[in-house]
Amino acid sequence: MSTSEKVAIVTGASRGIGAAIAKRLGRDGFTVVVNYAGSAEAAAAVVHEIEAAGGKAITAQADVSDVEQVKRMFTSAEAAFGGIDVLVNNAGIMMLAPLAATDDQNFSRQIDINLKGTFNTLREAATRLRSGGRIVNFSTTVVGLKLETYGVYAATKAAVETLTAIMAKEMRGRNINVNAIAPGPTATDLFLNGKSDELIERMSKVNPLERLGTPEDIADAVSFFVGPDSGWINGQVLRANGGVI
Ligand code: NDP
Repeated sequence: MSTSEKVAIVTGASRGIGAAIAKRLGRDGFTVVVNYAGSAEAAAAVVHEIEAAGGKAITAQADVSDVEQVKRMFTSAEAAFGGIDVLVNNAGIMMLAPLAATDDQNFSRQIDINLKGTFNTLREAATRLRSGGRIVNFSTTVVGLKLETYGVYAATKAAVETLTAIMAKEMRGRNINVNAIAPGPTATDLFLNGKSDELIERMSKVNPLERLGTPEDIADAVSFFVGPDSGWINGQVLRANGGVI
């Protein structure tokens, strides 16, 4: 897929991995829709950085768990740029607790944003992405590692992996590839907040490359999935984690 004139929506692109993806896709030549939930200033800064590098981007506020807000985002992107070619379903939250201590609010929020949010955007993309389009969903390496306290979070992401494989088949005849990336520990607020320096150090040494992933490491993988060299890769999950599992 040539990136000239191609339009990419990146959810959760105000911070962390999503911001790195938006900037990378901007450099790759995509027009980028920088979605965010609450961080308007950070999202605007991502857009400015893309524009300063010669790219094209707009911000789009939408809580991915809200059906109407997601529909509005797709409609605005189509109105602004004439169509949508790429959806990167990066927005997500992580709330860790043992199952016995997980309250209903914790469960519902993670389901609403990680699973329903992904479903909401996939449902729009299924009918609205142009032929030749690409979808990249976000799982986690914890689906494989199955660490204590990650139960509900990992369950939402396991469901995303299942949606990925099934949607890839449902896109038969549309020429749209659907894949997922399952990062390992990556240096963002989501991973770092609430962890001691010792725990971060320990977790960063589990993989044989002995460092944390960077948002740019993950953006590189997304760039491949939405670029011209991955046309034969469809319905797959890539664990981008330095080899931890
Ligand atoms: P961050 O917490 O750093 O950033 C999360 C981003 O998602 C922000 O831009 C935030 O927007 C946005 N967001 C949160 N809730 C919503 C919502 N309801 N609607 C729209 N946007 C929302 O997370 P990461 O960058 O670390 O994570 C990105 C993805 O990667 C997630 O799906 C996560 O599960 C996955 N992942 C991360 C790993 C890690 O170690 N960091 C490992 C494995 C997977 P705002 O700023 O407006 O709140």
